[in-house]
Amino acid sequence: MRLIFLGAPGAGKGTYAAQLCQQMGIPTISTGDILRANVKQGTALGQEAKTYMDKGGLVPDELVTRMLADRLSAEDVKPGFILDGFPRTIAQAQSLDVLLKEKGLNLTAVVNIDVPREVIIRRLSGRRMCPGCGANYNVNTNLKPKQAGVCDKCGAALITRSDDNEATIMNRLQVYEQQTAPLIAYYQKTGLMKTIQAEGEIADIVARIRAAVS
Ligand code: AMP
Repeated sequence: MRLIFLGAPGAGKGTYAAQLCQQMGIPTISTGDILRANVKQGTALGQEAKTYMDKGGLVPDELVTRMLADRLSAEDVKPGFILDGFPRTIAQAQSLDVLLKEKGLNLTAVVNIDVPREVIIRRLSGRRMCPGCGANYNVNTNLKPKQAGVCDKCGAALITRSDDNEATIMNRLQVYEQQTAPLIAYYQKTGLMKTIQAEGEIADIVARIRAAVS
């Protein structure tokens, strides 16, 4: 199964992808996570990407596409994958089409995770992450950690992502509308698009996505 998750920042792509990957035994490829790991390790890619990420802008297509091509060559993606946060521009979608064609692979579905803007802003401002194991939480939803500020899984102190402040959130939403939302029309033409209304319980939304793609 090869899936793309589309949706605004804060739509819940990472949360639903994490659960589906566990259920289906395939990896999630999150370009945001790969970039953050590069920033943390201080690689050349990380240093370049950080200047864009901190402002809520997009990292240049060429850098992200090369990074994705590397990731898609790994052994663990053979049974399938969920792409979370890629593609984010029409140019990235076109590069992905070429990459998949070269590998003789087809996409199974493109899942558009649709959430009202007010819900997205509430979710983004409540988001917390674990710097130790990467687990995600949200103090404004039922994804709160058991103990405030502490990771349930590894006990590390939770942090707010540096791009989850108000000014950056507004910029990320604007970038989404201008550069990423046009992908909905791009994939609608392929007949692969499944739109999921993503309000309610996480388990129900995951079940809805699963039913739509199988
Ligand atoms: P995310 O974790 O998906 O919200 O991504 C965090 C940040 O990483 C974004 O705001 C962008 O700056 C950068 N990023 C992640 N994926 C991409 C992509 N496909 N193209 C360009 N920039 C990206």
